[in-house]
Amino acid sequence: MSLAGRALKRQQKLAEWETRVEALHKKYPRLGEISRSITKLSLETVLLGMGKGKMGMTWEELDQAREALQAEKTALFKEYNLPKNIDEVWWDCEKCGDRGFLGVGEKCACLLQEEREMRWEFSGLAPEQREQTINTFSLDWYEDQERYRLILQQCIEFAEKICAGEKTENLFLCGPIGTGKTHLCSAIANYVLQAGVDVVYLKIGTMLDLIREYKYNFEKSATFSAHRLKSLYHVSLLIIDDLGTEVSTDFVREQLFYLFDERINYRLPWVISTNLLPNEVGAMYEDRLSDRILGTSGILKFTGPSIRQLKIVRG
Ligand SMILES: [Zn+2]
Repeated sequence: MSLAGRALKRQQKLAEWETRVEALHKKYPRLGEISRSITKLSLETVLLGMGKGKMGMTWEELDQAREALQAEKTALFKEYNLPKNIDEVWWDCEKCGDRGFLGVGEKCACLLQEEREMRWEFSGLAPEQREQTINTFSLDWYEDQERYRLILQQCIEFAEKICAGEKTENLFLCGPIGTGKTHLCSAIANYVLQAGVDVVYLKIGTMLDLIREYKYNFEKSATFSAHRLKSLYHVSLLIIDDLGTEVSTDFVREQLFYLFDERINYRLPWVISTNLLPNEVGAMYEDRLSDRILGTSGILKFTGPSIRQLKIVRG
C-alpha cells in the first residue's frame, strides 16, 4: 500500500472509531461523562505543569481523581460486558498506528514486511520458488559435488555483491534440464529480495510476450505491464529463465540486444539460465548479441543426470 493509501486508511479507521465511541457514549451516557472528565483532568495536568492550573487541585489530587474515574470505567465495562478495546482505535499495527513509520524515516516492521511482500510479488517468482533457497540447495544429489560447491559459491558471491551494491559480472547458467539451474536462480532471487533489492524473474517466453504486448498494443497496455516492462530494463537484478526456447525472429533478437545493451549501459546485472551451451548461443544469435550475453558473464556449466528425475525415482 502506498503512503497515500495508508493515510487514507488511517482516516477511515479514525472516522470509524469516532462513530463507534459516539454510539457507545449515547448508549451508556456515564461512560461519555467519564471520558470527558478524564480529558479535562489531563488538560489540567498540562496547565498545572505550566503554572496555570484552574481547578485548584494538586498533582496528587489530579492523579487520584483520574484513577478513580479509570476504576469506575473498568467496573462499568465489566458490568456492561464490553470488550476492553471498544473505545480504542482498531489499528492493524499497534506499534505505529498504521503509519508505517515509528519516527522520522524509521520504518516500522509492518511496513518493511509489506514492502518485502510487494517486492516478492512483483518479482514474478512462483510460490514454490520461494522455498528454493541457498539453504535448501542440496549437494547430495550430485556426483561431482566439488563442481557444484563452486557453482553454489559463485552464486552466493554474486548475490552478496548485488546486495552490497558492488559491480559484478553477469551469470550464465547452462546445462541440461533438471540439473538445478532454476533452483539456483530462485535462490539468488530470494537472497537479494530478502535484503530489500528488487528482482524480476521471467521465463524468456513470458518476457517476450510482455515486450510484444507493449510494443504492438501500446494504448491498451495496462499500467501494470508498462511498469513491469520498464522494470526489465532498470530493475536491480533481472533473471531470465529458459533462454533459447524462444522462436528466434529478427524482432526477438533486436529486443534482446536492446535489453542487454541498456542494462550494460546502466551497469545492471542479470542472470540467464539456459539449456544452450555457450557455442550454441553463438550459433543461435548474431555476434553482437552473443557477445553481450557471453562476454559479460561468468559461465556456470551444469552437467550430469536430471536431479528432477532422480528425485522422482528415489522419492
Ligand atoms: Zn507498524
